[in-house]
Amino acid sequence: MVEIVANLHMHTPYSDGALYHRAIADAASAAGLDVIVVTDHNVLVRGIERYLGGVLVLVGEEIHDCRRDPQVSHLLVYNVGEELAPLADKPQELVRQARQRGGLTFLAHPIEYGSALDPELEAIPWADWEVKGFTGIELWNYMSDFKARLWSAPAALFAIFFPSWVVRGPFPAALRKWDELLVAGQRVVAIGNADAHGSMYRRGPLRRVIFPYRFLFGCVNTHVLIDKPLTRDVAVDRALVYGALRAGHCFIGYDAAGPTRGFRFTARSGAEMAIMGDEINRRGAVRLEVVCPAGGDIRLVRNGEVVARATGRALEHLTVDPGVYRVEVYRRYRLLKRGWIFSNPIYVR
Ligand SMILES: [Zn+2]
Ligand SMILES: [Zn+2]
Repeated sequence: MVEIVANLHMHTPYSDGALYHRAIADAASAAGLDVIVVTDHNVLVRGIERYLGGVLVLVGEEIHDCRRDPQVSHLLVYNVGEELAPLADKPQELVRQARQRGGLTFLAHPIEYGSALDPELEAIPWADWEVKGFTGIELWNYMSDFKARLWSAPAALFAIFFPSWVVRGPFPAALRKWDELLVAGQRVVAIGNADAHGSMYRRGPLRRVIFPYRFLFGCVNTHVLIDKPLTRDVAVDRALVYGALRAGHCFIGYDAAGPTRGFRFTARSGAEMAIMGDEINRRGAVRLEVVCPAGGDIRLVRNGEVVARATGRALEHLTVDPGVYRVEVYRRYRLLKRGWIFSNPIYVR
């Protein structure tokens, strides 16, 4: 397995972002990312996918129904070679058609709180939970996390200058919703992203590019475990990346709180071995192992409940219980314990 670091949600001037693909790729390269997926609103920008500055640039789309008011249900769509935005008002049909074309679909910022300070900061949660068949959810969206902290004008001022002091981790309600879907038997892949726009924030005389792409690419990323190293052939590498994402062979890392590269969560039973995203059939007991690149507060979660906890770089747990197992790691950063690593589940059957 080879670990690559990806960010799967960002915008260019084709929708409401500040920089074009080449400049974003330079920022990604400077941040040490391997792959970015650019996801403009309701437009599939063609002819862009290539390696730029050593970074694999892929193009997806963030689709939503512009006529819905208030705004809800943004959907990230990857690996579909055609424009599906006309289906925006039929989310189930959109998910079905994307899937039929070999695409992946993730509910963008499914739980959001927004801020009452500005209509531009309103919450845009997912509102169509009856939809089935999506690949996964964006469990941690940096911009959603940030927006939720702007509860007053002074708080906003502080957050704009010191975002890393306010950003905390996936919302507990997002974690609960994810567990609920997992326990109900659904396979749901979690990803974490920047949702970078590089936008200017204006409030009175204050003007500040609050989140340059380069800054955000050092924050919440999706680390993907691929079967073999990237080849620099775009078609081959696209298949490697999306294949691993579809399988859930990935984890969310908040790289600002300490590099998360090297985190692993595995299960062994008899001669069988599983990584994040996999299913494993019990042959007697199952040994679950967590390894972190640095010390943290490691929690092993089974069907939504913490079943083991360790402080340090590793956790081992022997069990005979089937269930959906996943890992959360918290770490002290900027005075508080903050979300650091969120693994995808291993399904013990
Ligand atoms: Zn969105
Ligand atoms: Zn977005």
